[in-house]
Parts: sequence; C-alpha cells; structure tokens
Amino acid sequence: MMKRFVLLTPGPTPLPPEVLAKLGEPILHHRTHEFGELFRDAIEGLKYVFRTKGTVLLQCGSGTSGMEAAVANILSPGDAALVASCGVFGNRWTKIAKAYGLAPAHHEEEWGRAVEPEKFRRTLEAAGKDVKAVFLTHTDTSTGVACDVRELARIVREHSDALVVVDSISGLGAQPLEADEWGLDVVVAASQKGLMNAPGLAFASVSERAWKVIDKARLPRFYWDWRTYRASLPNGETPYTPAVGLVAAQVEAFRLIREAGLENVWVRTRVLAEYTRRAVEGLGLSLFAKAPCDVLTAVQLPKDIDGEAMVKALRDRYGISIAGGQEKLKGRIVRIAHMGAILQEDVDQGLAALKKELAAAAPAVK
Ligand code: PMP
Repeated sequence: MMKRFVLLTPGPTPLPPEVLAKLGEPILHHRTHEFGELFRDAIEGLKYVFRTKGTVLLQCGSGTSGMEAAVANILSPGDAALVASCGVFGNRWTKIAKAYGLAPAHHEEEWGRAVEPEKFRRTLEAAGKDVKAVFLTHTDTSTGVACDVRELARIVREHSDALVVVDSISGLGAQPLEADEWGLDVVVAASQKGLMNAPGLAFASVSERAWKVIDKARLPRFYWDWRTYRASLPNGETPYTPAVGLVAAQVEAFRLIREAGLENVWVRTRVLAEYTRRAVEGLGLSLFAKAPCDVLTAVQLPKDIDGEAMVKALRDRYGISIAGGQEKLKGRIVRIAHMGAILQEDVDQGLAALKKELAAAAPAVK
C-alpha cells in the first residue's frame, strides 16, 4: 500500500472523505442530462464561493491554466497592462503576459510584504491611463502574504477603466473575497486548495465589463477561449470533454462548504491560521509574512537550518508533507497550510515534528 502523508502543503490539500468517495464513483458521459445537472450544481457552487451573480467558468487544468486563459482572453497585441506582485505567483502574471508578446509594467513589493496601496497608486498613475488590465494576487502562496485586493481594486477604479484581474487560486473559499462587491472583473481559482478537491480544475468569475473586452480581444486562443465556454453554459456543458470525476467531487465539496456556510469556513480558517501563527512563534520562530494570509503560514527558519532538508526530514521520518521555499526563498522558509479540510490536529502533528527536528538540529546551531 502506498505510504500515506499528513498533507500540510498549500495545495494540494487533503480531501474530506465524502469528496474522496465521489472520485471513486462510476464515470458519467458528459453529454447527458445527468452530467448537465451535476455541471449546473458546480456552476451554482462557484457563484456561491466567488460571491458573484455574474458568469463563472470551469475549465480543466491547474490554476495556471486559468491565469493563462485570463491573459489570453482579455488582452490584445500591444495592450498596456500592469502586474502588482509580491511573490512567485504575482510574477507569474508577468511571465504569462510576456509569453504572449506583451510587456506589462511590473510593480514588485519586497517579498513578505503586501502590495502597499499608496505605492501601487503611484505605479498605476505612472503606467498611464491606457492600462487595459491590472493583475493582482489575493494570497501569494510563495510568501504567505495576503493583499488587500478590495482596496487595490478601488484604487484602479478611481484611476481608470482597466479591468481588475485577481489570482485567488489559494485564497478562494478560505478567506474573504467578494467578486461583485469589490468590483473584481476576473477572479481565477483552482480546485486543489481551499475548495477541497483534487488538483485538475480551474475556475474563473467574469464580469460583464470583462466580457465586453473579451468579445473583442485579439490574442490567439483556442482551447482556453472563454467565449466557447460561455456558449456551452446554457446546455450544462463544457466545450470539450471535462474531467467528469473532478466535477462530481467539486459539487460534493461545495455541498460541504454550503452546509458549513462560507462565512463560517472563513472564520474557521482564520482561527486555525491564528492558532498556527501563535504556535510557530511559541517555538521561537518568526513569521516570514508581515501581512500574513490565513491559508498558510510561511515560517522563517534560523540561519543555520536548511529548509529543504527540513521538508525532507518531516516527509521521511514523520510522513508529514509541508512545503519549502520557492526561488529566492528556497531553503530559508517552510510553509505550512491550514486551509480547506486541514484540521488543527494535523497542524499540531506538523508542528510537533518541526519542533523535534529543530531540537535535533540545535547542537549544530550556534
Ligand atoms: N497562484 C497561486 C496563488 C497559487 O497558490 C498557485 C499554486 N500554488 C498558483 C497560482 C498556480 O496554480 P497551479 O499550480 O494549480 O497551476
């Protein structure tokens, strides 16, 4: 039998047993009434978690496919755009835009800090009125930081008609986000984090303002052409064969989120986040994020501790899966998730193992 892990990574996250069971059910054909019902339930669930009355889309692919689709659907060759980043995932917006031949203005906050609204305002003003879209990150999973996307979106609106596009791949369903109320034109999410499903689905909410742009945009797109997804919605379908099992599992996860109430899930996540942060500080460690999100905690390690070795030790010796740092944070931090179906007892196990390994390494630490 395959080794089981306590999964404390900020995606994928563990699945509730009910969701896991759905993945074992017989597969439906996707052009049937039965699948149509399931698909409509998934769409209703998405509207509930995005807090939107607008269009929501479901596509097959990880979160990055949703980010790429957002760029490809919104922009046209030569368009000015602005990315406000504070980590690896913010930077991904810029990489995607560049892959499509665009040259977005790039505003990067020091990692560990949230995009600071007044600095952002100045960058936006410097970028000019022609900016067609501003790309933001709700919770940058690489640094464990949450940005005030509500405030940033408000600043964009004050300044211009640019579309506000938000990556909430790790935030959605875990900490507050209001697509309609906050005026977010496109929000991208994925199945494998707060939404408590296996990896493989990407989601987007799309405002009416965004559709006007999408209908005329001129970057190349085919598989990710959101116009075809929108056209299939009334039939309860996706344009191409969907990941049927993942859709069924997502509907089950939405049932659980609705049963608990989304606001209660936000509170539950915040409480576990606060608990984890206190416990980490109780171990004598500091938090990497100055503006921590609720979905994971990025833990700054003492200088002489190698984060990569720590991740490996927890996996090999305790069967606990946590994440290390990415890019320039590799080796310097570890990341412990507490979103979705992760329980306090799981976090406790992770922290107990971390504590033991730190103590074992202590003689080597001056
Ligand atoms: N953005 C954020 C904030 C993320 O947390 C992730 C996944 N770690 C991604 C984008 C990329 O998503 P995926 O790996 O599902 O493509």
